[in-house]
Amino acid sequence: MDHLHNPTLADPDTALPDDASLTSWIIGRLYDSVLITTTDLDPPGPLIVYANEAFCRKTGYSCAELIGQSPRILQGPATNRAVIDRLRENLKAGETFEGETVNYRKNGEPYFVRWNIRPFYSDRTNRHYYVSIQRETTREVEANQINDRIVESVAEGIIAIDANGYIRLLNPAARRLLDLSAERNWLSVHWRELFASRQDSTESAFARPIERVIQSGEPLSSHRGRWPRSDGGTIDIEISATPMTVAEGSDHGCVVIVRDNTVQRRFERRLWNAANRDMLTDAYNRRFGEEILTREIGLAEQEGVPLSLIYFDIDHFKPINDRYGHGVGDRILKALADCVVQRLRQSDYFVRWGGEEFLIILPGTEQRSAGKVAEALRERIAGMDFEHGPGGITVSAGVGQYKPHEDLRVWINRVDEALYAAKGAGRNRVHTAE
Ligand code: GH3
Ligand code: MG
Ligand code: MG
Repeated sequence: MDHLHNPTLADPDTALPDDASLTSWIIGRLYDSVLITTTDLDPPGPLIVYANEAFCRKTGYSCAELIGQSPRILQGPATNRAVIDRLRENLKAGETFEGETVNYRKNGEPYFVRWNIRPFYSDRTNRHYYVSIQRETTREVEANQINDRIVESVAEGIIAIDANGYIRLLNPAARRLLDLSAERNWLSVHWRELFASRQDSTESAFARPIERVIQSGEPLSSHRGRWPRSDGGTIDIEISATPMTVAEGSDHGCVVIVRDNTVQRRFERRLWNAANRDMLTDAYNRRFGEEILTREIGLAEQEGVPLSLIYFDIDHFKPINDRYGHGVGDRILKALADCVVQRLRQSDYFVRWGGEEFLIILPGTEQRSAGKVAEALRERIAGMDFEHGPGGITVSAGVGQYKPHEDLRVWINRVDEALYAAKGAGRNRVHTAE
């Protein structure tokens, strides 16, 4: 504070005034609070010898009230002792101190402050002082606290990865959704460690999209999949990733958001089932059945593999309905559908084509094998018992293999004719198409 030196500018019109009064004028009007104390650290010291206007405004004390007091009058219950202890140690060692804690105004109101203290030697008084420059950070701290609270409490998992691939933030939701160990400190761990004890399939499903975002800098709007949990189950999750500079002064890393997709997926499946399945029997509906047939014909043509169809219809079902009622008829349809589904392979499709008429589409199956499947089903259905209504029912079936370049309608008609022939031949039998 003794002098402002400006040796490079000699011109009196442009040189800074070498004037101590200017220096103190500036300090007096600084936006930051300035406090100067003596250097005796033990009580009653250090003692305040100067406080600028900003300091008085901030603390509510007048200058006269402060002079001769120790800065300890600013401390209170929320003042961080560890920070004050470090302050003492730094100053004792002749080092600069920098820290952040809570101070109290004269009226008892707490505020956050960030400040630094430097030792200073005055040529004029031949004494040492501590000069402390302080700035209130209450708003900043509160904003950070709000940010922290949001990150801690949102349902979405948030994982911030820096440019070197290290995790800089991982919130409780991410821990919960990804079933990550609660004991482990995930900060500064490489993000690939998230997959450390998972299967390769999980790693390739989720790590590759994240890798791509980090490498390309292109955002990933959505990637869905199943995440295995340690209890042996899985959870449907959806991730998105945004390239972002996570650590100051580095290249972009990325922020990954993890969502629980279980409810959404269940909802989508319900919608899909409503659109593609028959409500009573849970078999595919006719609309979706036609879609499957068209697709499978395309595949059969392309790959030259066989494709067969079973078309069956319940025998004398109308009289059963008439006698026992529609409710019993419905229950029979449901039981029959359950029985058929149990006997089919994963690759076969079961379609409710009409009222009590069903199709079974068998990709990769020749007519002979399809005939055997139909015969086995016919036999099984004939052996079924029903608690209410008729003791049993029978079905008649037509079977036919798709011929290369055949039109879908023509193929179905051929199989339908086989079914008609089976009915004509006395029912409860399987006929093969021409
Ligand atoms: P056939 O052996 O010649 O097939 O004789 P059928 O009496 O079964 O004749 P058809 O196949 O033409 O009869 C269809 C009957 O199936 C009409 C109706 O009573 C019954 N039906 C169709 N859809 C449903 C349904 O959703 N629920 C019930 N309960 N009955 C149905
Ligand atoms: Mg019938
Ligand atoms: Mg019918």
